[in-house]
Formats: sequence, C-alpha cells, structure tokens
Amino acid sequence: MMIDRRTLMGSVAAGAVLGALPVTFDPKHFAALNGASGLSPVDAQAATGAQARKIPWTNWSGSQRCEPRVRIAPKNEAQLSEVIAAARGPVRPVGAGHSFTALVPTDDTIISLARLSGVAAHESEPMQTRIGAGTRLGAIGKPMAALGQGLYNMPDIDQQTLAGATATGTHGTGATLSALHHYITEMRLVTATGDVMELSRDKNAEIFDAARVNLGALGVVSEITLRNMPTYNLKKTTWTEPFDDVLDRIDELGAEYRNFEFYYIPFSDMAICIGHNITDEPIVPRGPNEDGDAVMELRSLRDWLGWWPWARKKMTRAALEDAPMEHAVDEWWKIYPSERSVRFNEMEFHVPREEGPKVIRAIKERVEKDNISVFFPFEFRFIDEDDAWLSPFYKRKSCSIAIHRYHQENYHPMFEAMEPIYRAHGGRAHWGKHNSLGPEDVAALYPKWNDFLEVRRALDPDGKFLNTYLKGLMG
Ligand SMILES: Cc1cc2nc3c(=O)[nH]c(=O)nc-3n(C[C@H](O)[C@H](O)[C@H](O)COP(=O)(O)OP(=O)(O)OC[C@H]3O[C@@H](n4cnc5c(N)ncnc54)[C@H](O)[C@@H]3O)c2cc1C
Repeated sequence: MMIDRRTLMGSVAAGAVLGALPVTFDPKHFAALNGASGLSPVDAQAATGAQARKIPWTNWSGSQRCEPRVRIAPKNEAQLSEVIAAARGPVRPVGAGHSFTALVPTDDTIISLARLSGVAAHESEPMQTRIGAGTRLGAIGKPMAALGQGLYNMPDIDQQTLAGATATGTHGTGATLSALHHYITEMRLVTATGDVMELSRDKNAEIFDAARVNLGALGVVSEITLRNMPTYNLKKTTWTEPFDDVLDRIDELGAEYRNFEFYYIPFSDMAICIGHNITDEPIVPRGPNEDGDAVMELRSLRDWLGWWPWARKKMTRAALEDAPMEHAVDEWWKIYPSERSVRFNEMEFHVPREEGPKVIRAIKERVEKDNISVFFPFEFRFIDEDDAWLSPFYKRKSCSIAIHRYHQENYHPMFEAMEPIYRAHGGRAHWGKHNSLGPEDVAALYPKWNDFLEVRRALDPDGKFLNTYLKGLMG
C-alpha cells in the first residue's frame, strides 16, 4: 500500500509522472476523402487507402476532437502549396496533437507534415541545421549529434513535431536558456494562397517575428532552421528536498544547474528536484522508466487517504524524504526527454521570474486547504526571455508553473480555481495548455498582439486558417 520509494525516485523524479502518448497520426490513416474534398488529386500517394468515411481526430489527452472532411499529408512542399491553395478552410496544420487547447479542430481540412520530416541540411559556420517542419523532436537528436551539433535545450518529452512545438512556445527549463522558437534562424511558410515565403531576421523580418510562435494562424510552416551548439553530454542529478527549502534557495539552484526544475508532490511538503549540467564524466545510463507505476501509486494513496489529508501527507512524505540522490550521464537527447505513460490534462502559466515562488506556494496552499483531490505533481521551471511577438516569454524572464489532472477526471473545477492565482501575478498562458484567456486578456498581456493580428490579416484576409477557437481570439 505504500508508495515505493525507488519507483518514485526513478520515475516521478525523472519528471515522468505525467503521462504517455498514442501516435495520433499514422501515415496509413491519412486520407483525402474520395471526391468529397473538392481538391485536385495532388496527393495520390498520401491518399493510398483513402476512405469515404470521415476519420475522427482527437488530441493526446482526449480533450479536443473533430471530424474533418479531409485529413491529408502532403509529400512535399509543392504539394502542400497546392493543397492549401485549393482548400476552402478552415485549414488547420497539426503536429503530434499534444496541445490541450482547441488549436487544431476543424470540420474541413487537417494537414499533417509527417512526410516533411528529417534533418535536411546542416552547416557548421554558423552551426545550424535545416529540419522538416513535421519532424518529431525525438527524431532530431541522434542525427544532429552525429553531425556534432546539439539543441540548446529541450522540453520534457520529445514526441512533439518541431513546427507544432515552436508554434505554441514550447520550452524546457534553464534560467539562461530560452524556449525552442528562440533558436530559429530561418523558416519557410506556405500562406493561404499557396505561396511560399522565406523568413529570417533579414528576409520578411516582421513576419519572421510574428511566425516564430504562430499558433498555426499564419499558414503552414514547411521547414525550420535551428541555431545549435556543439553536441554535449549532460549529468542529471535527482534528489528530494522539503518544498520550503527549495523555495528558499530557488535562485541559487537556478544558477547552480544549467537546467533546474522541481516537482511538488501534493500533500507531502516535499519537492523532487532535477538539475542538469554539461559534463565529461563517463556515461551512466538512465534507469528503466517506471512512471506509470509511480503515478498510479500516488493515485492509490489519494484514493485511500484523500479524506485524511494529514495521513496522506505523512505517508507521502515518508516515501520521499530519505530518498537517495541519483545520477545519470548521457548524450543531451537521451537525458532531456521523459516517457509519459499516464495521460492527463494540463494548465501552465508563465509568470515574471520574481513571481514564480509566490505563485507555486499560493497554488499549493489553496489545493491543500481545499483538499482538492489531485495526485499529479506541480511542475516549476525557469525560462529566459526572447523577442518573438507571441512568445509567452516576450521580453520577460519567467517561471513556468504547471498543474495536471488525470485524463479521466474532470479538470475544470481545479483549473478554474487556480487560474485566478496565475492571472493575479501577470501570468501568460502556455498557448497549448488549458486556459480561458480571451482577446482582451491576450491583448493586455502581449505588447505585440495587434502587430501580430495585422500580419495575420495581411497574409490571410479571408481567415482560411482560423477555426472557431482562433476566430474567438483573433476575430
Ligand atoms: C505529455 C506532454 C508533455 C508536454 N511537455 C511540454 C514541455 O515540456 N514544455 C512545453 O512547453 N510544452 C509541453 N507540452 C505541450 C506541447 O509541447 C505543445 O502543446 C506543442 O505545441 C505540441 O506539439 P505538437 O507537435 O503536438 O503540435 P499540435 O498540438 O498538433 O499543434 C500545436 C499548434 O501547432 C500548429 N502547427 C502544427 N504544425 C504546424 C506547421 N507545420 N505549421 C504551422 N503550424 C503548425 C497547430 O496548428 C497548432 O496550432 C507537452 C504536452 C504533452 C501532451
């Protein structure tokens, strides 16, 4: 009945308490509907196995669904242009379907770039790689490291596509490291007319600023060039520590580790800390992934002791407090991502750096005072600022604080109760995670919101890329 300490250390601490993924898009499922799409037969190959019935789409957590008329995976950029030019809309690009918000659903056309995938080219001066927009982050590491290059940072899973991740401002952790989109040097964007635009700081600079975080609202990105660093190994250190002590020395921890984050385990007063630094030490591979077991142990503890928060706290704390420090050393792309084997819904807001500790403390206190029956950990990360117009880190060094609910539980009451705490501290929502921000809220939080809207209108005056959710935000 007790949480097993090793399981918790091996998996919760690995950041792994947070869910898993089905492959949302299997190439054999892509289909242009027979005759129903009104499109020219541009995708004869992708449509092999085309079916006359609609293929429902759902996101990873199951919180978003739709029945598009057409689901299509163009085989190259030329075909992508043709599909977009012929489509009536709403046209929605999709990556791995790992966003929780209603960015993708449409009753018309969903376009996947699963076939525009892979590392296309590289150069060493400046050090950068050109990558197909539909490439999963997990497919980038090995080939990039073989070229002697490394991503500056990664999020805590690697199942997202590069274009999908950057479109929502996806980030990892690190006080001096920015979100993924900050490292984009060039992009190719296919607009509503099917025209292809090259974007960089020198070419169409304003559109480049708008497009690095774009919500799929400006067109479909076909290729992204990333600035990289020489490949490296990371040493990952995992330990437990009282929550109050971690907050007392949070700045020190953020400076001591290149990548620092912690998870607060609700009803325990204990945090699980994870720090990475670049190292030359010998390889110590990560242990087996036990995340599913750990999260289910936390759930059992909640189910058995939820009515007695003091007993729950005592037992969870006992399971965590004497846990030994653990280390792993390996290549960057093997250390950053975790596997998620239990699905969840998530809310994450990014608050100004100095507000972070106050926000996570307020959330902890509220959850425990109201005995909210959550068992998923809360996650705390650092992210440096950047200058992409819709970046949640626009000109603001930030802390990101995330809360989660098991996918079979109703997430609305808890998220609705916590959102005012984030918002009282100037929180900007992760674009891909649950939130209720409307157009006025967004306009107040993003100094470049109106500039973005202007670029959007100029590129897509008829709103071909706007689904119901984006129309509500962008008009
Ligand atoms: C288990 C899990 C762990 C996560 N961990 C993190 C994390 O550590 N850090 C973090 O910041 N976020 C995290 N997220 C959120 C996730 O990174 C984002 O929601 C991300 O956008 C998902 O990428 P995707 O490829 O699934 O894109 P989707 O969710 O399919 O799409 C996201 C957006 O990108 C657009 N898009 C997709 N492809 C293109 C294209 N080619 N051109 C233009 N627009 C496009 C879509 O239209 C949509 O607006 C996590 C989510 C899950 C489910």
